[in-house]
Amino acid sequence: MTLTEKILARASGKARVQAGDNVWVKADILMTHDVCGPGTIGVFKREFGKSAKVWDKTKVVIIPDHYIFTADSKSNRNVDILRDFVNEQGITYFYDVIDDPKGHWVFDASKGMLQRQYGSNYAGVCHTALPQKGHTRPGEILFGTDSHTCMAGAFNEFATGIGNTDAGFVMGTGKLLLKVPETMHFRLEGELQPGVMAKDIILHCIGEIGFDGATYRAMQFDGAGVASLTIDDRMTIANMAIEAGGKNGIFEFDARTQAFVDYRCQLNGTKREYQPVERERDEKFVYEMVVDLSKLEPTVACHPDPGQRKLAKEMGGVKLDRAYIGSCTGGKTSDFLEFARVLRGKHVVIDTFGVPATPEIVHDLQSARWGEKTVWQILVEAGVQMTENAGCAACLGGPVDTFGRMNSPMKCISATNRNFPGRMGHKESQVFLASPATVAASALTGKITDPRQSLPN
Ligand code: SF4
Repeated sequence: MTLTEKILARASGKARVQAGDNVWVKADILMTHDVCGPGTIGVFKREFGKSAKVWDKTKVVIIPDHYIFTADSKSNRNVDILRDFVNEQGITYFYDVIDDPKGHWVFDASKGMLQRQYGSNYAGVCHTALPQKGHTRPGEILFGTDSHTCMAGAFNEFATGIGNTDAGFVMGTGKLLLKVPETMHFRLEGELQPGVMAKDIILHCIGEIGFDGATYRAMQFDGAGVASLTIDDRMTIANMAIEAGGKNGIFEFDARTQAFVDYRCQLNGTKREYQPVERERDEKFVYEMVVDLSKLEPTVACHPDPGQRKLAKEMGGVKLDRAYIGSCTGGKTSDFLEFARVLRGKHVVIDTFGVPATPEIVHDLQSARWGEKTVWQILVEAGVQMTENAGCAACLGGPVDTFGRMNSPMKCISATNRNFPGRMGHKESQVFLASPATVAASALTGKITDPRQSLPN
């Protein structure tokens, strides 16, 4: 069995499963957020009754993150619905934007878009917050009402996005009927060269198979090359499995996974026991691809979908209006550090927006010092509009007052994960997906630029 099959076999109480089997699996965690949470709660109440209780109040994790820092009253109302539900159900893990459980978030115009407008429990973008808060464990099943839930496959778990109807059912029963996906095998060899990042690996893979090339399939990443990839790198890669249509992405368990998960579970007082899955000899794959990391170059996914792969060095003719770094995929501490390394001591020539994925990342950047200055200061001095209001922001467009949203047709290079028309706002805008290093180099020139030209010695 493949890694995915082994987890699904265990979660369904069977000795073996194979691709195509339909099995009932037990969920370890159900995550929902402000966009899909209200709908999920509605399904749950309709199907299980107004006074029904969730199957396990310690396993439903609720993370508002999408449309938070906006004056849009419907978006604010969604977070209120989550808060009311958490109070009613006694749910343990709710990362509210405000500290008062009976309160209501309101936009503070005196702080504007850049200064922090959240309380002490807020956790930021769900997929980045889940591991930080100790909710991702090897060998487990994580369902989330968001397509990029697959990011947690970085931790050797089966993690996938589900719709509100399925999530309402999981909320009531803790189970879900799943078809076991076929597995595609991506064997990574070698090490990345300077200026090339994990984002380039996944953009390369999606470019090979197309944006629907892994539809309802597991994407298994393993091989000697994985050892050189950090946890953040693996998260970037697993996150974008869905951009090829993948059911899930999954990595092998190793000492790095163990160190990260053990530390985070201990830090947050969450469950510390888990059982990783290891590779077997009899794995059956429907596809095999070997990726020599040392041969990869800075890569861009062009408008209008994540499979439109080109090399950054071939795209110098594309003039840009905007650069954006943020999201679950590209808004991690390591992403901002690489971004800052390229920008340090220089100045951007186009509007450039920076949105850390979580408050913890804001803190990291405001406390990490390079010489006399913090990384945050270096970015601000380089002309980046950095907001402390961690969240999804313009990755998903959002209400018209969303920070960084494209409200007119323009071309943007972005460290986010999805570039279908209208994704970041205006439906005639164009989004070019790239690594944080490529976004930074392009912000300095106003054209798509290979970051290897701008790297410090
Ligand atoms: S940052 Fe973007 S991709 Fe990630 S959860 Fe938010 S909207 Fe989705």
